[in-house]
Amino acid sequence: MNILDLIKLLPMTNCKACGYDTCMAFASHVIKKGAPLSACPHLPADVFDTLDKTLKEQQAKKTHLAPDRFKTAKEFVTGKIQDYDFAELAPYLGGEYIKRDGKDTMILPYLGHRYEISKQEARALDDVPEHDVWDTILLYNYIASNCRKSPTGNWISIDALPGSIPKKPELEETCEKRIARAFTGNVAGLKTAVQKIGGAFADLETSADLKAVIHPLPKTPFLLLFWDEDAREGFEARAKVLFDETILCFLDIESAVFLAEKMASRLIEMKG
Ligand code: SF4
Repeated sequence: MNILDLIKLLPMTNCKACGYDTCMAFASHVIKKGAPLSACPHLPADVFDTLDKTLKEQQAKKTHLAPDRFKTAKEFVTGKIQDYDFAELAPYLGGEYIKRDGKDTMILPYLGHRYEISKQEARALDDVPEHDVWDTILLYNYIASNCRKSPTGNWISIDALPGSIPKKPELEETCEKRIARAFTGNVAGLKTAVQKIGGAFADLETSADLKAVIHPLPKTPFLLLFWDEDAREGFEARAKVLFDETILCFLDIESAVFLAEKMASRLIEMKG
């Protein structure tokens, strides 16, 4: 299945409930980036079931997901960690070390699910499909950081990170605007979604209607701020994601923005 095949089966109303501006943008993210199909609430159950099955089989075979790029990226990043001492490193990354079939293995929570990562393979332990092979690369990038810092709780915007100029629009489009659109007029729904992925509400001096600290990975907390729409004043809903100042110790900026996109997808998924 490619993007055009999927578009033909979508309602094409561009209602934005999935968090994307158009059905076409949604289809592109499902096929290319593994965004969950369940983010579109308007698919009839039988169509959803058939499509979801097809997409999962396709993603499992890593077709349409740049398999060569994935293979190269995986070889590169796993090559970095072959000499790592997982037992020593795991606590620094908020993971748990185990031996599985004689292999050094780390258990990491990732966006509310648990993953088991050896130096060769990564797989979800919970009953979740591996939506996106790039999740695997992200998890290996996190381990390859070999970072021993702890988050400080000092929040910074993406502007403060080197190389942020091309990445800032991506963060806005794939994360902040999607959350804003998906939860307009629904702060309660966003609170529930935050809790479902293990986030905690923060007590901060800001005018935001929702302030929450979410740990997509154990040592990479994000501060999510959400201002609901104010129709009388003509303000649309707005969301902002801030990073802990240690973020670049754990992830490069591209991975951090990808992680923010995945967080947005999970929140929208949790909306129900
Ligand atoms: S939720 Fe997204 S994919 Fe579904 S109809 Fe609305 S815009 Fe299209």
